[in-house]
Amino acid sequence: MSILSRFLPKKKPVEIKNNMPKEKANIKKTFGVYCHSHHGTSGEKLCPKCTALLATVMTRMNRCRYGITKPICDKCEFAGQCFGERQAREFLTIMNTGSRKMYLKHPVMAVKHKLASMGVDYARYEQQKKLDDKIKAKEKASKERAKGRKKDK
Ligand SMILES: [Zn+2]
Repeated sequence: MSILSRFLPKKKPVEIKNNMPKEKANIKKTFGVYCHSHHGTSGEKLCPKCTALLATVMTRMNRCRYGITKPICDKCEFAGQCFGERQAREFLTIMNTGSRKMYLKHPVMAVKHKLASMGVDYARYEQQKKLDDKIKAKEKASKERAKGRKKDK
């Protein structure tokens, strides 16, 4: 450490929230709710198919390309690559069907998950808007340039 750095304001570390444990808990609960009503299971137990799919989802989540800044899996455009197309489809079916029941059984968790999903939508919307603004600005600039050239003649 140099002497100077002692007088400089300390940089605050960027806080990154790790939402993965919460998301995992939500997915597990949603799988439970879905499997109980569709496959006649009860308690902590899931049918073999759901157990296998859940295990795959959990291990793939740990290898997520986004790390802990990941969007929720049921909103991620890479879910198909992560889980495999067929398993991603099954996963989405369970998450979509199960989430409706989650509002009755685990309302707080369901609402939090919905908010997280809206957050992903909002981030995408903002990203697209920035892109659109950039394109618009470029178009405007090129129009201005064209005008300028006409004047020169
Ligand atoms: Zn099941």
